[in-house]
Amino acid sequence: MTIPAHPPLLPYLRGLARDALGMGAAAYLEREIPALGDPPPDALMATWLGTAGFLLDDGETQLLIDPFVSCPSLPWVALNRPIQPDRAAIEHWVERLDATRVAAVMVTHSHYDHAMDAPSFAQLCSAPLLGSSSTVKIGRGGGVPVHRLVRVEPRQVLRFGKFEVHFLPSVHGPSPVGGPPHAGHVTEPLVPPAHHADWRHGDTWVLWVRHPQGSFIHQATADTLPDTLQGVQAELSMSCLVWRRSTTDLLQRTVDAVGATRLIPLHSDNMFRPPHAGFSPMPGVDLAGFFDDMARLRPDLRIDTLPLGEPRPLFTPR
Ligand SMILES: [Zn+2]
Repeated sequence: MTIPAHPPLLPYLRGLARDALGMGAAAYLEREIPALGDPPPDALMATWLGTAGFLLDDGETQLLIDPFVSCPSLPWVALNRPIQPDRAAIEHWVERLDATRVAAVMVTHSHYDHAMDAPSFAQLCSAPLLGSSSTVKIGRGGGVPVHRLVRVEPRQVLRFGKFEVHFLPSVHGPSPVGGPPHAGHVTEPLVPPAHHADWRHGDTWVLWVRHPQGSFIHQATADTLPDTLQGVQAELSMSCLVWRRSTTDLLQRTVDAVGATRLIPLHSDNMFRPPHAGFSPMPGVDLAGFFDDMARLRPDLRIDTLPLGEPRPLFTPR
């Protein structure tokens, strides 16, 4: 089967219409991982902040990945109004998450919906900010002290408590109308407010997170290089749903590439609404099409979803 160069436009538009009608949302919500009444003290918990944002917490160490809660509205972004981190919202989430043990804030690419809030989280949590040279420039512009800015190298492995995080070089997915949006690198400190296109994607990473409780990959954009996941094994794939070329392509690039037996979708919610507004699908993600495809292609694969802003066990002690 030929892999299209970018997500085909007609299925994307069909998905937009199905999402607008709310199709697939019930199937999504009924797969939510339930809250544990009394989580075992060493369960590995994850709180999804929407988009590709997570707080991981094993009771000892916390990690933030792509934290994004400012979520300027779609009309605001479409009109190219300047955007900036919503400091009050970020302070609210740092407190609500009890983010007092954050060892690192990690950014997988530097578009605004992954990187804009990260400097504020790093500052409020007194944590280092890790990512590409573009992410470091965004951190500089956001006021993160230089000694807390860490430019990662391809295939670098970093350890935080019991977590082992691999930064695997990857590539940003193309849009339904062609190549990746806002390509290139951020070359100067980026001081917000700025236009959303100023957050260039920079280098793109898939994270491979290994922990005694379980291992997973975090793929924040729907593409990979042929060798991104070479030699990687993980039980769980957190896979980007939006702008997938097809569900078959998504399975090949993530789940099957690492031998995963579970999938948690990310970039599935509406990134133009803050997490406290509750779940609604990312326009064009085509939840109904995703679940139809999965029932046909891989009925045995476990699909879990996460509620917004509530901790859930990602893995429980073995
Ligand atoms: Zn992006």
